[in-house]
Amino acid sequence: MDFDTIAAISTALGEGGIAIVRVSGNEAIDIVDRLYRGRKKLSTVDSHTIHYGKLIDKCGQVIDEVMVTVMRAPRTYTKEDVVEVNCHGGLVSVRRVLDAILEEGARLAEPGELTKRAFLNGRIDLSQAEAVIDLIRSKTDKAMQLALKQVEGKLSRKIKELRQTLLEVLAHIEVTIDYPEHDVESVTHELLLSKTKEVKKEINYLLDTASQGKILREGLSTVIIGRPNVGKSSLLNTLIHENKAIVTEIAGTTRDIIEEYINIKGVPLKLVDTAGIRETEDLVEKIGVERSRKALEEADLVLLVLNFNQELSEDDLRLMELVQGLHVIVIINKTDLPQKIDLDLVKQKIPDARMILMSVIKEQGIDQLEETISELFFAGQIQTEDLTYVSNARHISLLKRALQSIEDAIHSIEDWLPIDMIAIDVKNAWDLLGEIIGEAVSEDLIDQIFSQFCVGK
Ligand code: GDP
Ligand code: ZN
Repeated sequence: MDFDTIAAISTALGEGGIAIVRVSGNEAIDIVDRLYRGRKKLSTVDSHTIHYGKLIDKCGQVIDEVMVTVMRAPRTYTKEDVVEVNCHGGLVSVRRVLDAILEEGARLAEPGELTKRAFLNGRIDLSQAEAVIDLIRSKTDKAMQLALKQVEGKLSRKIKELRQTLLEVLAHIEVTIDYPEHDVESVTHELLLSKTKEVKKEINYLLDTASQGKILREGLSTVIIGRPNVGKSSLLNTLIHENKAIVTEIAGTTRDIIEEYINIKGVPLKLVDTAGIRETEDLVEKIGVERSRKALEEADLVLLVLNFNQELSEDDLRLMELVQGLHVIVIINKTDLPQKIDLDLVKQKIPDARMILMSVIKEQGIDQLEETISELFFAGQIQTEDLTYVSNARHISLLKRALQSIEDAIHSIEDWLPIDMIAIDVKNAWDLLGEIIGEAVSEDLIDQIFSQFCVGK
């Protein structure tokens, strides 16, 4: 395909050591060449080589000292000619380099446009492009590995396999329709049933990974509740100090998406500020039982703190009532003091919750809390190597719809309904899965997906 030449700053803006301006398109090499002074003309150098030189503006003024990488199509990020100009970091310097390149005829890239080109030029499929967005926003190393896997096309491969199976099903249906005189009915019936059930199982498996995927991507929203003085603030501070707060800053990001999370064994913990109350000691009083229950339900995890050194109060009992059925870890704090709490009563009130004895002051039980959080959500270690986590909302919704179609097909097969009716549902599932990897998606959707990128990717 033929596009105009675009350019963007593709490193984080700010006081970095170096900054990179990326230029992509047919004119990329010529445009930079007109500004570049070095040992060789860039138009004459080998592909995938790097060259030292200076950029000079129209009046012969030096703009910056640069290292220029020349990469010729098609083995590049966008499958077009790409030139990367490494210049001094700092806003003024890269801005001047970018401006000079724009003045020579390149157009400023829209957010995500470079990755969009990679997609439109067929280098990556849509789910891989979306993974680049995830990569930019990854909160922990684990989340980054997960996104990387997807960039490498792990999910795409799985989806393609499933579509292949569905295609085989459709082919068998064709044969049966075309040659009704052959007595293939019962054989076909068995085969259709086993293949569609296989696809159903695989889609269910992918959907099972979705909640973990979401947590890795967006962070585990966590609320700490408990009566005043049980030690909520102390716990929060300990968690923050023991675990470095994560600040994502990856090449290509802009400042506005940098956020802070606590990394608990690869789980990004996001402490939720529920209605302005991070530690909700007076949650119930402030916003009422009904609304606080709602707020708690939105959390992925509730840490309920009780005092080892006090008998259970009315308020404690009310809080235990409030968290029934949620993901709760009960923390019995201040075990360095004499026991006054009735632990059996706690177990009886919330039998499903994990309970951890802790002394924040003596730093006891913190490790166990972290273990438990990781266990609860990932059954121990997060296995990004073996698992394909589905984490993108669009993919999840398409998988759910595909699952529905497959289930409809299975019912029709089981009820011996006419075979062309079955074909409709199978075809539908095949289409829906196709949308995940960007086959048969509308241009509007593509634009919307790529607009989530920041400039420079
Ligand atoms: P919050 O009101 O629930 O946030 O409780 P704070 O974290 O402010 O703690 C209340 C008081 O309990 C402070 O004086 C803390 O030093 C103390 N405290 C917190 N954790 C422990 C603990 O494990 N043992 C003891 N003995 N005191 C603690
Ligand atoms: Zn407090």
